[in-house]
Amino acid sequence: MIEAIILDWAGTTVDYGSRAPIIAFKNAFAHYGIELSEATIRQDVGLDKMTHVRKMLQEPAIAETWEADHHDIPLATAAEKIYHQFQIEISKVLTETAQLKSGMTDLIRFADEHHIQLATTTGYTQTMLDQILPLAADQGYHPRYNITSEQTNHIGRPHADMVNLAMAKLNVTDPNHVIKVGDTINDILEGKNAGTFSIGVVDGGNLIGLSQSEFERLNIEDQDRYQAKATAILKEAGADDVVNNIADLIPLIESINDHQQEMPLLLTPGPLTTSRAVKETMLVDHGTWDDDYKELTQWVRHELVALGHASDEDYTTVLMQGSGSFGVEAALGTAVPKQDATLLIAANGAYGERMTEIADYLAIPYVVVDVPEDQTVTLSAVQTVLEQHPEITHFAMVHCETTTGILNPIETIIPVLADKGIVTIVDAMSSFGGVPIDLTALNVDYLVTSSNKCVQGVPGFSIVLAKRETLDLTQGNARSLALDLYAQYRCFEDNAGKWRFTSPTHVVYAFAKALHELNEEGGISARFRRYSTNESLLRQGMNDLGYELVIDENVQSPIITSFKYPIADFNFRAFYEYLKDRGFIIYPGKVSKCDSFRIGNIGEVSASDISRLLNLIETYTKDTLQLSVAR
Ligand SMILES: *Cc1c(COP(=O)(O)O)cnc(C)c1O
Repeated sequence: MIEAIILDWAGTTVDYGSRAPIIAFKNAFAHYGIELSEATIRQDVGLDKMTHVRKMLQEPAIAETWEADHHDIPLATAAEKIYHQFQIEISKVLTETAQLKSGMTDLIRFADEHHIQLATTTGYTQTMLDQILPLAADQGYHPRYNITSEQTNHIGRPHADMVNLAMAKLNVTDPNHVIKVGDTINDILEGKNAGTFSIGVVDGGNLIGLSQSEFERLNIEDQDRYQAKATAILKEAGADDVVNNIADLIPLIESINDHQQEMPLLLTPGPLTTSRAVKETMLVDHGTWDDDYKELTQWVRHELVALGHASDEDYTTVLMQGSGSFGVEAALGTAVPKQDATLLIAANGAYGERMTEIADYLAIPYVVVDVPEDQTVTLSAVQTVLEQHPEITHFAMVHCETTTGILNPIETIIPVLADKGIVTIVDAMSSFGGVPIDLTALNVDYLVTSSNKCVQGVPGFSIVLAKRETLDLTQGNARSLALDLYAQYRCFEDNAGKWRFTSPTHVVYAFAKALHELNEEGGISARFRRYSTNESLLRQGMNDLGYELVIDENVQSPIITSFKYPIADFNFRAFYEYLKDRGFIIYPGKVSKCDSFRIGNIGEVSASDISRLLNLIETYTKDTLQLSVAR
């Protein structure tokens, strides 16, 4: 839980555009005949002011001007003189610029309600701060402690000392429970050095550097451009996240709290992190007999066919109680007739293997195309086996093999086999909803997924998308009553969406909510982009930290990524616990040929979650594993 927020002053909480120090520096140097550009001043804002003066005086052009005009006064003394003048100038402007920025009142109220303590650190001196504090207090802002570098032996930003002192005074010991917020690079570095969450604020900050009226006069595109540029600079400095308005910290804190507390972020291949709204849907109980529920079931069935780019005329959805494997078993056990049929299974991981186990249990005759785990299934490998086994009537393969995260090219294999009259079954469990799939173009007969993968629902049922003309011929095939896909299909069709047997009502409502959220996000292509961004950030970030991939990046799916252990005697359990304590659940590896672990990119997970994860792994890699990292 976040216990404290440590805030900067000018540009962050007061003084929109961080005008006060700029005006005062300009006037102080002008007093000695030196014209400073705003850009020169803004470069190092956030430092303590004496350091800042010295830094500017070191600029060759400024130093030369000083020496030409004031050759009787050495540079060292110049800094003191200008600094003295700065103190006079800033007093004149501090009071005009002490207005709280928009959003602060909301943040203060939120902090109050959640017992989050507020403190500040600043590049101002105590004398300057003493002018601002009563004005801020008049506006309802009373941080408990206000730290200047005078209290830390003049060690200011970017060092951690001021934040450390604030934490000590607030009696907060764990930096994972603290957020440091500021508008400058030095602010971000200060938070990073203290090990807190380091969050940047863009609107009204130094990096945009415009007054409120100047900013508001810009058109939307220009505002976006300024914001994007400032965001990029703060991120580059290592910010864990960057917000526009300071009130945007509120949802960020809620999400950090969720993840640190009762709701960790699952970076797993499903069940995965669902949205709060999806979870909240399950707070209401529903009967299975109800017409609304049956209608909802019909809508879900229709919506899934549409997501697969197919028509309800050609394809249908059969929902099946149980986890994803129940759907695979129902599909295999119903699709393959009891006589005169042989199944070909392509396997390059645990889920392909599982289909062979199912075939064993159901006594389905089968042949396997065995492919190494780090390679994709290819059409030529499948065709070779087909030629050797003319008795083959059915073919099954996995799309994203979650064992490694490899993506098999179903689009080059399935249509070819379908053309040969072979009935095709695809386990697209971990990809449907997150990777675009066109059922019609694939001409696939059965495609299986589940409620708890990329549509981002909770576990409870599996989903079989089936070609009607194929499914219509399967009456009496099933080896199991409960997993009879045909009987389940007929029940839905003949009774307007009625499930056979008790159905997971709460899960279905949550899933319908998740489908709406998928549409709101922009459909599968938008979700695919988000997952792909997560995956590439993760892969590149981990690479920079020295972690190697198990499979080639060209065959990598955006779903889940496998990494080799960084050292031979890597203690995965300890690594797992370290991340779990900080709100992230990752997954052990499943490949047989090397020691690995996996990190999922799917679910309600954003780029900023991945960047927070990478910061934790960086710390762990350096401090616990004692490995040097390039990042
Ligand atoms: C998740 C998953 C399954 C189903 O596993 P369950 O534990 O039964 O839900 C099947 N195949 C793949 C590729 C998967 O990722």
